[in-house]
Amino acid sequence: MTFKDFNLKQPILQAIDEAGFTEPSPIQKEAIPLILAGNDIIAQAQTGTGKTAAFGLPMLNMMRGDGSVEGLVIVPTRELAMQVSDEIYRFGKNLGLKTATVYGGTSYDKQIERIKQASVVVATPGRLQDLLQGGRIKLSPKFVVLDEADEMLDMGFLDEITAIFEYIKNEDRQTLMFSATMPPQIRKLAEKILKDPKTVTITKSESTNTSIAQHYYVVEEYERDDALVRLIDYKNPSKCIIFCRMKKEVDRLASHLTSQGFKVGVLHGDMEQRQREVAIRGFKSGAVDIFVATDVAARGLDVNDVSHVFNYHIPFDSESYVHRIGRTGRGGKSGEAITLVSPNELRTIKRIEKDVGTKIVTQSIPSKSEVQSGKKDELIAQIASTKITEHAIEIVKTLQHKIDIVAIAHMLASMLVEKQEIKGKEKIGFKAEDVEKLLQKAIAGRDDRNRRGRSGGSRGKPSFNRSRNDRDGDRRGDNRPRGDRDRKPSGGQRSNKPKSDK
Ligand code: ADP
Ligand code: MG
Repeated sequence: MTFKDFNLKQPILQAIDEAGFTEPSPIQKEAIPLILAGNDIIAQAQTGTGKTAAFGLPMLNMMRGDGSVEGLVIVPTRELAMQVSDEIYRFGKNLGLKTATVYGGTSYDKQIERIKQASVVVATPGRLQDLLQGGRIKLSPKFVVLDEADEMLDMGFLDEITAIFEYIKNEDRQTLMFSATMPPQIRKLAEKILKDPKTVTITKSESTNTSIAQHYYVVEEYERDDALVRLIDYKNPSKCIIFCRMKKEVDRLASHLTSQGFKVGVLHGDMEQRQREVAIRGFKSGAVDIFVATDVAARGLDVNDVSHVFNYHIPFDSESYVHRIGRTGRGGKSGEAITLVSPNELRTIKRIEKDVGTKIVTQSIPSKSEVQSGKKDELIAQIASTKITEHAIEIVKTLQHKIDIVAIAHMLASMLVEKQEIKGKEKIGFKAEDVEKLLQKAIAGRDDRNRRGRSGGSRGKPSFNRSRNDRDGDRRGDNRPRGDRDRKPSGGQRSNKPKSDK
């Protein structure tokens, strides 16, 4: 099947071609014909499966281009607003359709100006509600899309979304809802805003990106830094993202890696919008090749050519695992996801493996001498393929007066070797062969505690076996909305939604 089979307009097909898409993804195959036929839809598919084009292409195809705002896309965060807007612009530009991006923290006037010229508005809920409520803009779009609906509800945007639909005056609008998960609140919202929706579900096996190789390495708690540096040396990622649980850890790890000579950028929820944009641009352009980030800040981040994702710590739940690893292997490219796991976390990685439905394979961290001999081969190949320059010939001529030619060669090779010296101890972490034994021990340890009648075998070791109840306990401890988790508490007042969106 190709995109031609959808009977899309020529300028759109041309844009798809320019984007390099050859075959529609599973969600696109199912959703596009239903949308073109005029249906409301509720679609569930994991991240990285091409949802933007799944709603963007048919929506653009059906637009008249009459100068009014015909399409409205509501997304949870500013980053996503910019990303989705870029993608839609790229498919619509050959038709002369303009997009406007609307989010909090920037000037109202400029955004209003752009909305007046746009056919598609991509907006975050808070700012959009603000504009509609104040009567600064009026919208009656034919198409309304809720993208990442579950994420928006998690962030506490239900009120805003409900309010927005009060202001949209269009009886025969077509509404499309996209979500990675379908909890009951989502279904309830869907009942309210959708008319006879068709359901599209792309199952896990179809949507888990099979081009991502998934590995885990078992290390002692204190070995994490060494393990990470060794693996970066060994894997040689062209671009990678390292996920941490906390902002504090992001900062510490970033300065550690910088001191090891890597080009490092950071992304976390405490950063100003401008700083984030600059950071993301630096990563996209290759000015930095390692990005250290928190989950929340990197949600939905779409950067091409991320070859590796590292989980410095295992994420708490399977959903964030899927979101994190989905930052690599994008657009049909292959990628690798690597998770560092302490013996205490073995049960968690096993649970995630089961939830996600793919195999996560354990491996041993290569020893110093293994990495060094790998580097040696690389170096030999590199030297053998280097072009000889005039300037180099002159330098050797000068040296030859004083030093024997073989000694010169040894000296030059030493210079190169020194540059890529592998640091750290010879052996790091547990051997893959021993992991099964560790796992048995972890399970036996838990049974033991239960037999002795202690309630909650995981108590005191929270990461050992996090049951759903453990997690709810965490939430009670920190019931800021998800999007705010890695932000500083804002003053004394606890807000129910991210303020920055206003
Ligand atoms: P989602 O919203 O499901 O997380 P996106 O819409 O952000 O996924 O798409 C992920 C990436 O895959 C983007 O870089 C997008 O350009 C690319 N992509 C989408 N559809 C296709 C396709 N049919 N062929 C190749 N690449 C695609
Ligand atoms: Mg998306």
